[in-house]
Amino acid sequence: MSKPTPLIAGNWKMNGLAASLDEARAIAGGLGATPARVAICPPAILIHRMAQALSGTAVLVGGQDHHWDDSGAFTGDVSAEMLVDAGAALAILGHSERRTGYRETDAVVAAKVQAALRAGLEPIVCVGETLEQRKAGDALAVVTGQVRGSLPAELAGRPFSVAYEPVWAIGTGLTPTTPEIEEVHRAIRETLVELFGDFGRTPPILYGGSVKPGNAAEILHADEVGGALVGGASLKAEDFLGIIRAL
Ligand code: PEP
Repeated sequence: MSKPTPLIAGNWKMNGLAASLDEARAIAGGLGATPARVAICPPAILIHRMAQALSGTAVLVGGQDHHWDDSGAFTGDVSAEMLVDAGAALAILGHSERRTGYRETDAVVAAKVQAALRAGLEPIVCVGETLEQRKAGDALAVVTGQVRGSLPAELAGRPFSVAYEPVWAIGTGLTPTTPEIEEVHRAIRETLVELFGDFGRTPPILYGGSVKPGNAAEILHADEVGGALVGGASLKAEDFLGIIRAL
């Protein structure tokens, strides 16, 4: 079976105004030949304008979250269909900042994944252990448990990816060692095959957590690493391109 096509996605979180579209244009303009699919996930309010700014380029646009229901009385929320309507092709779901800050459980994440699939969005489902869980020797159990709980059966045959993001590595400058990353990625792959059979070998497993141009080559070439989910370093075209070129 051929290796999954790598995906490198930038998570802009709650950063970026209309002027930041120039940075997205610079990313698209500097992309050149790459084996990766590249995506930028800006705040929801920027998706429409970013999709227009990047139209005709190879860079995809994604959302960072959406509601599990398709429409209704959910003040302040956006639906998966609204993200598609605005020009998004993918959605980050279950990011640890949502799991922690908004108490999203695996069941909530799984319901959001189902909503993404109904709308035609490609989910990037995030999982990852806290430092306490790693220190207690529970990293593999926590991560594989999140994979089982957050990935509904409807994903079979659909494009999606899993992003392994150790909570303690996000925005901290800390990263696991390459063998630690590989151990978790292999466990995720085994779980995907358990859940989906041979199809479980096809989704890329991204690494996320303090990926920078300086450490990207080692991380991206590690076993079972099929790309990256990049926070801080995706906000500057030069840094994001440096990561993409490390593949
Ligand atoms: C993230 O939030 O998904 C992330 C990986 O952030 P950073 O790259 O800034 O650690």
